[in-house]
Amino acid sequence: MRGTVLTIVVPCYNEEEILPETIIRLHELLDKLIDEALISDRSKILFVDDGSKDRTWEIIYKEGLKNKYVKGLKLARNVGHQNALIAGLQAAGELSDCVVSIDADLQDDIQVIRKFMLRFHEGCEIVYGVRKSRETDTFFKRSTAQGFYKLMRGLGVDLVYNHADFRLMSQRAIKELERFKEVNLFLRGIVPLLGFRSDVVYYDRLERKAGETKYPLKKMLAFAFDGITSFSISPIRFVLVVGFVSFLMSLAFGSYFLMLKFLGATQTGWTSLITSIWLIGGLQLIAIGLIGEYVGKIYKETKQRPKFVIDIDTFNLPIPKRQLQMPGEEGVVYPKVSETGK
Ligand code: UDP
Ligand code: MG
Repeated sequence: MRGTVLTIVVPCYNEEEILPETIIRLHELLDKLIDEALISDRSKILFVDDGSKDRTWEIIYKEGLKNKYVKGLKLARNVGHQNALIAGLQAAGELSDCVVSIDADLQDDIQVIRKFMLRFHEGCEIVYGVRKSRETDTFFKRSTAQGFYKLMRGLGVDLVYNHADFRLMSQRAIKELERFKEVNLFLRGIVPLLGFRSDVVYYDRLERKAGETKYPLKKMLAFAFDGITSFSISPIRFVLVVGFVSFLMSLAFGSYFLMLKFLGATQTGWTSLITSIWLIGGLQLIAIGLIGEYVGKIYKETKQRPKFVIDIDTFNLPIPKRQLQMPGEEGVVYPKVSETGK
């Protein structure tokens, strides 16, 4: 047990306000877990800077110079929470027995990580953190999130209810995850697909301590839509069914109007004509739009673009002393990944 190396991966995007506290709290936690011999003292906290525009990277970097637990991964630009997380998991997975992912804002109760470790030692490869209730969320966020889980379930996607990206994964699970090469990687949907032995730990989610949510409505909707179309072709089926039904209806209407014509009552109105034009036009547009959505996904997948680009990595590689300077300091040299030999 003593030798179990844990890495806590924390994606950060413009989190300068909360980061100092996050560092202190996670550091305390590591100390406690090390004392209890649940983890090795080679355990680390890996902060992934997702192209922040504020002082986030500076804070991570400076802390890393004096704190042996703190490591940083700076992505060259903002790639979004999911991709930043994957970057962190992959970097950490190589040198850790298990990895816990958690948001920078301390909304998830970090004491739960202890329970994660206990489950891990019992042999679980994946442990999901699940929120007991959503009281701290706004009514709007709560209802949209719940609607989302229900919809996903209805579409046949196996999500862990009320589980965000607070989870433990073993090194093996991360290795397997890397074999999913898709670009639109929706972790919450993929991880249950791995199928390893897993367990769930319940916790209360707190309010964001500082800073504001990096998931405004627009991003939330995009995230939900991506989640759905990355996993399910049910919407396309639905369009097919609607198309089929309207085709049958038009057959019925057609024969009805023909019958009227033969009976001599040919007062077919403009209204029915114009409404059917709109109806059919609308249906066609929906269908094309939806198909376009999937074609767009295929287009992205076929390009096989890398999900992220690493700028600086203080986790896997020791950086030469002369390069340990911050921007603005005299003679700053950024260690390029190529220079550090990776
Ligand atoms: N985040 C990120 N890249 C982004 C947006 C967010 O790495 O483009 C990080 C953010 O710093 C935080 C986590 O993802 O650690 C979750 O974001 P947030 O707490 O704002 O989302 P919410 O909890 O409101 O859903
Ligand atoms: Mg949050």
